[in-house]
Amino acid sequence: ATQIVLASRPKGTPNQENFRFENITLPTLQAGEVRLEPLYISVDPYMRGRMNDAKSYTPPFQVGAPLEGGVVAKVVESKSEALASGDVVLGALPWATQAIAEAKKLQKIDTNLAPASYYLGILGMPGLTAYFGLLDIGQPKEGETVVVSGAAGAVGMVVGQIAKLKGCRVVGLAGSDEKAELLQKEFGYDAVINYKTTQNLRTDLKAACPNGVDVYFDNVGGEITDAVISLINFHARLIICGQIAHYNDQQPQQGPRFLPLVLTRSALIKGFIVSNYHARFPEAMQQLGTWVKEGKLKYQETIIDGFEQLPEAFLGLFTGQNQGKMLVKV
Ligand code: NDP
Repeated sequence: ATQIVLASRPKGTPNQENFRFENITLPTLQAGEVRLEPLYISVDPYMRGRMNDAKSYTPPFQVGAPLEGGVVAKVVESKSEALASGDVVLGALPWATQAIAEAKKLQKIDTNLAPASYYLGILGMPGLTAYFGLLDIGQPKEGETVVVSGAAGAVGMVVGQIAKLKGCRVVGLAGSDEKAELLQKEFGYDAVINYKTTQNLRTDLKAACPNGVDVYFDNVGGEITDAVISLINFHARLIICGQIAHYNDQQPQQGPRFLPLVLTRSALIKGFIVSNYHARFPEAMQQLGTWVKEGKLKYQETIIDGFEQLPEAFLGLFTGQNQGKMLVKV
């Protein structure tokens, strides 16, 4: 089998040299274990944090050890009662063309209910993130204005649609005209601003949010967030989900500088990690699954073909190569 290890820790923006391919021979299966072949491997922005030697909510990747993350895989050999050859499972697995795992650490998934890849996207970590961040922290009410940064990504695409289901005006920020058009035509966004080409982000945002901003779902941080916060209403809720604009920073940024407005508008700012909500995952899965089945939630994926494309797919997250969830099909 082949695996991809962290060759070196990135300084600033990661590149191909931070990854190395290695041939491995897997041991024989022990009782309770299964042999797996990946179908879809997820690449996610949070993995950038794990490439640093820094303490966080997940331990850092080790130099010389394989990267790992969300994988949907097929069982090809089993020494467990719980799983049989041919079953499809979700797990935290290494970036490798074959892996051995304990059956009890894997979750069997039903591919009749939804495509296997959806368990890494709308019915997986990104979908759950959108659901809890928006509904639990944001608490959007009918008629309110919800702004979403990183709007065309795996999480953002779901946030906007749930906000529409709740009767809100939804405004997105995304990095290309193609993404802006997709979100408005296919995903019900009322307005989308291309933050890369706008002459004046704050002016455009103000025009798109004539009644101000009640809920801000932040996937990005930086100047986009400063502009949104300058437009918040009384009792606005600011959900800090991601800060991808800062993940490659080598120096900590100054700021934030908008706190006087947070004070005078009595706004709430709250960060969260989706795993905080672990006990409530079944409720969210049920609701997201129902919305998908009813056609109320749509989804898009950018699926890159080939295991060897994993580093490229991951790097592409930082230049906006994806619409919806970025995945590698093995
Ligand atoms: P996405 O699918 O949204 O992919 C990342 C996107 O970010 C890119 O497509 C790109 O789109 C945009 N982007 C990249 N760099 C910048 C930048 N400098 N400024 C503005 N936009 C940028 O990823 P996910 O949906 O998986 O994740 C979205 C965010 O949510 C991430 O920050 C992630 O870390 C966070 N997250 C947090 C979780 C939690 O538990 N709190 C769980 C899951 C994700 P564009 O073309 O628009 O620039």
